[in-house]
Amino acid sequence: MHELAVTESILSIALKYAQQAQASRVSDLYLVIGRLASIVDDSVQFYWDMLSEGTLCAGSKLHFQRVPAQLVCLQCGKEYTLDGELEPCPACGSAKVKVSSGDQFFLDSIEIEKAPSSEA
Ligand SMILES: [Zn+2]
Repeated sequence: MHELAVTESILSIALKYAQQAQASRVSDLYLVIGRLASIVDDSVQFYWDMLSEGTLCAGSKLHFQRVPAQLVCLQCGKEYTLDGELEPCPACGSAKVKVSSGDQFFLDSIEIEKAPSSEA
């Protein structure tokens, strides 16, 4: 359910951009996903293929880039990067930590193809 909603929003952003750029089609989309975002790549791809059918994005390829999460220890204030499972603070061992980033999901860039305009 979650993936369907985000896939719809990614598609509407991509189509808006493609229309503004007068693209003939969209070939590639680069998505950034935070390490802690509860997004399943395969689900996004599944919805993408379904939703993009018949649009400028039909047949385009999704590229997923996972970015590490940033955490802040509420005990000692240390900021650290997380690239795997949730871990306690490396400085003091406290489990009272706050996620400052890492649950984001957004469209970073897209690649489009343009119809040749110089031809008569
Ligand atoms: Zn700490």
